[in-house]
Amino acid sequence: MTATVETVVKPRAMEREHYKLLINGEQVDSASGETFDTYNPATNAHLATVAKAGEQDVDNAVAAARAAFDKWQRTSGSQRNRILMKVAELLRERTADLAHIETLNNGKAIQNVKAEIGQAIDDFEFFAGASTKITGITTALPGRHLGYTLREPVGVCAQIIPWNYPLMMAAWKLAPALACGNTIVLKPASNTPISALLLGEICLEAGVPAGVVNVVTGPGSTVGNYLAGHPGVDKIAFTGETTTGKQIMITAAATLKRISLELGGKSANVIFEDADIEGAANGAAFAIYYSAGQSCEARSRVLVHQSVYDQFVEAFLARVSKLKVGDPMDPTTNIGSLISQNQWDVVNGYVEKGQQEGAKLLTGGQRPEHMAAGNFYLPTALADVHNQMTVAQEEIFGPVLVIIPFKDEKEAIQLANDSIYGLAGSVWTKDVGRANRVAAAIRTGHVSINTPYTAFPGLPFGGYKQSGFGREMSMDAIELYTELKSVLVYTGEKPINPYGG
Ligand code: NAD
Repeated sequence: MTATVETVVKPRAMEREHYKLLINGEQVDSASGETFDTYNPATNAHLATVAKAGEQDVDNAVAAARAAFDKWQRTSGSQRNRILMKVAELLRERTADLAHIETLNNGKAIQNVKAEIGQAIDDFEFFAGASTKITGITTALPGRHLGYTLREPVGVCAQIIPWNYPLMMAAWKLAPALACGNTIVLKPASNTPISALLLGEICLEAGVPAGVVNVVTGPGSTVGNYLAGHPGVDKIAFTGETTTGKQIMITAAATLKRISLELGGKSANVIFEDADIEGAANGAAFAIYYSAGQSCEARSRVLVHQSVYDQFVEAFLARVSKLKVGDPMDPTTNIGSLISQNQWDVVNGYVEKGQQEGAKLLTGGQRPEHMAAGNFYLPTALADVHNQMTVAQEEIFGPVLVIIPFKDEKEAIQLANDSIYGLAGSVWTKDVGRANRVAAAIRTGHVSINTPYTAFPGLPFGGYKQSGFGREMSMDAIELYTELKSVLVYTGEKPINPYGG
């Protein structure tokens, strides 16, 4: 079957019956003509068909990115600055429409989606500024030598992203890569392909040249895997599950691609006896139930001092009882749907397993009665948990909190670090010394003190241990998207004779 081609001139309506790949500035069907379906998780109703990329399409996308690289890498920082600012402006103008379609495709509460689009805008603005500040060092060296360094773009970047924050993850990836002068083949998750395609179109409209941003949609096991091993790709930036990250490392090893991995987590929320317990309870609810718990940095383990355990549980359950689970399109909804029935089954399986291992269900553990059609799961909390239980060790990726008591600071730190993961953590205490001491002792890439929030553009974000490596969201991301070249210059009058004389 021949691919149909349509040049992107103006943004079309965001809600469509069919979405195409974006390759070399054109919306194209897959070479095979194959498609897949995408759904609204809140109703499980069919939403649209999407072109299903195959190896030929990935080859085309990588070739387009390769061809566009030479010119794009030579654009000035100020030109890239203007283009990225324009992307941010278009995202801002279209926030309402983008939030609508993202909510339809992801099922999370629209209040979450709007916040995430806001962060995507901030991210493009941050990296717009960064594009004019990519510099090296100069150093005087012995024997009339002068050294300097250049930061050069890595080349063609494969960016593979998950379904939990579809548009925001695409922004985290695209913005720094573009700021540094790379070209990109972006692959969104199969569950949520739409907003990455729309963002690709917005990039084109903002002035990103054809071929610089390409978007291919399809299954990770085929299109993602082929992209990760493609010899034309120089770097892989991946966000997703730790097991997939390990697979990608293996695939990337064959051609020694540069890689950065943002993976899973099982983060601790440490609440000391001197904390503002009501504030900590509110924060703990937000830190686990944001995005229906489908959040890498979800603080899914509360570690609470035994002397305030009951007080915390009471305040926490009072907070949970006020959270609104329901129609994701309702701006007052706090918790929308899980991504799929499959994810619902995984989450529910963990809750059952936790109870089999001795945990006590405090709240939730089922589908809300008033939301029978979609994949909704009530905010859930398990007490009487110890840190060796499966529910305390494995990433559930749903609205399930486990609550574990500790007796002193030493034990709190030991429990927080007793995990294969190392993404985030929170500390609640009024003791400044303890707050900073514990923050330093927790082996994670991020720690929040007396706040449930985590990621802001400007502050590095990434993991220790099996939560991955590499830092996004900050000037540190420049290191992920550049190669460092050292240039050595001899400044003497005559070429040096290394043999003397
Ligand atoms: P996933 O690993 O199943 O999929 C992520 C992406 O990888 C998708 O686009 C998928 O199609 C693709 N993929 C799957 N198998 C592949 C393969 N063999 N080769 C190449 N690509 C492949 O993850 P998910 O279920 O979509 O997302 C949830 C996970 O993401 C959670 O573990 C969560 O903690 C993690 N996450 C981490 C961060 C972070 O910043 N650390 C942020 C968001 C999500």
